[in-house]
Amino acid sequence: MTLAIQGIGVHTNISTAIGKALMLSRGSIQAKPGMVPHGKIEAEIERFFRAIEQAAGQLQDVRKQIPEDTPADILEFIDTHLLMLEDKAISEAPAQTIREEGCSAEWALQLRRDQMMRVFEDMEDAYLRTRKDDLDHVINRILHILQGGKNSDPTEISGHIIVSEDLTPADAIMLHHRGATGFVTEYGSPMSHTAILARSLGIPAVVGAHGATSQLRSGELVVIDARHGSVLANCDDNCLLFFHQRLEQELARRHALHNLKDAPAVSLDGQEVELLANIELPEDTETAIEGGCRGVGLYRTEFLYMNREELPTEEEHFQAYKQVVEGMREQPVIIRTLDLGADKQCEHQPQPASCTNPALGLRAIRLCLKETGIFRIQIRAILRVSALGNVRLMIPMLTNLWEARQARQIIDEELQSLLHQGIEINPQLPVGAMIETPAAALTAESFARLFDFLSIGTNDLIQYALAVDRADDGVNHLYDALHPAVIMLIQQVVQAGITVGKPVAMCGEMAGTPKYIPLLLGMGLKSLSMHPASLPEAKQLIRSLNITHLEQKTAVILQNLLHEDLEQAVQELEADQPAI
Ligand code: PEP
Ligand code: MG
Repeated sequence: MTLAIQGIGVHTNISTAIGKALMLSRGSIQAKPGMVPHGKIEAEIERFFRAIEQAAGQLQDVRKQIPEDTPADILEFIDTHLLMLEDKAISEAPAQTIREEGCSAEWALQLRRDQMMRVFEDMEDAYLRTRKDDLDHVINRILHILQGGKNSDPTEISGHIIVSEDLTPADAIMLHHRGATGFVTEYGSPMSHTAILARSLGIPAVVGAHGATSQLRSGELVVIDARHGSVLANCDDNCLLFFHQRLEQELARRHALHNLKDAPAVSLDGQEVELLANIELPEDTETAIEGGCRGVGLYRTEFLYMNREELPTEEEHFQAYKQVVEGMREQPVIIRTLDLGADKQCEHQPQPASCTNPALGLRAIRLCLKETGIFRIQIRAILRVSALGNVRLMIPMLTNLWEARQARQIIDEELQSLLHQGIEINPQLPVGAMIETPAAALTAESFARLFDFLSIGTNDLIQYALAVDRADDGVNHLYDALHPAVIMLIQQVVQAGITVGKPVAMCGEMAGTPKYIPLLLGMGLKSLSMHPASLPEAKQLIRSLNITHLEQKTAVILQNLLHEDLEQAVQELEADQPAI
């Protein structure tokens, strides 16, 4: 009889893996109380610091072996662990405990871990919870070294499905590098490290598969069905045949998607859609090009301000933007000005600690118009980089024209000042507005008159239209892109663009979600910006659609918006394509 273990499936376009299970012991190490004689205390402290150095050395080795084309966010996992190893919070307190109380290095570190974990446990924030996992992984690594642990990884990994309690980012990267075809972990949620890495590496995984390490045996043939979040063992021939065929289809589809990289996103009736990438780091440019984009539709610049104590200088801004602009070679790059606040926080945020509702507080352009010094530095860097390529500037979170005019005036002042100094810039730098509040959507025509282009940010637009916090799991089920109110707001913005004759794009998650693309094209959108990983599938879909037909069908849906079952109507839109 087939054994099925249920967990949370994680996958991109390959959801199936078939291979022999390989058990890896990666449980959390719990050190036992231990003491050292008085005369050996200094030697024990030295042993402790040597273990930290050795742990850092191991991570440096992993970093060196990571293939060059590995996405930047994966490298960040390793860098975070390296930074933690340098952090005095990890090294100083245990050294002091060894010195003052004569504890062994292992026990002193264990005491420190327990203390830090308690602090994390009192925090509810999901991001900080992932930091807790990082801390646990780093301390485990040091404990492993202190306990004389050698690298016990089996040599034969290629083609195997790794089954473990948990995997550190370094493990996941190395196992992938050595040919593992899937991961099954007891521990984990959709946002855990293993899940994030599996997605980035394109490797199917089932996380949170409770009982996997006790019920599966090393060497037995197992199947990962990440679509349904299950791990199967003891499958009969029919079951294995089914999954082998599914894997073949998935591989063929991935190959076909890759072959579309340089093909244009042209619909069956010959209409071209501009597919752009959303990026966050200069290094993402490569992934964007690899995905076959026609430019960057949203460069989120907040990341320049995060995880540091000083504000970025104009030169740092300029160098980061230059890397993106040069990487995109003549293709458009839309740089969005600072959108700090709400879910994106940094050390030097002037947001008052007492702010009760950060999503409605001093964020994005509101913050920039209060802290104009910070804003002007960024504007100057964007203007300077505009001389190097096809650069555009975009302002987030606008709600009223006063803000829009203030922002435009500051841009104009900096433009004049740079021209006056003889610095090369594009004096015609196009400036766009992000439409991501219902107020801006309803008055989009005024924004269209004042700006060169509009881009709809549905992530925030949905949150504000439906009063649903986009980061709150508790109300996730109410976050609905197909709520008629959201569709009406989008329609209003598209119409404003047509009336005033200005281009309208979309750069929220909705734009990269295949289910919504036929509706968006039917509504008249011709420029969609999305996560680079979503580009190939979006392109393939667009090439199978007839936009003229979608426009006709969508017009009927929009007329009956309040009476339609929109989920159903949207499904039928894609299915009901006339043969050409
Ligand atoms: C949006 O709100 O849709 C958007 C693209 O911006 P961000 O997700 O960065 O808030
Ligand atoms: Mg937004």
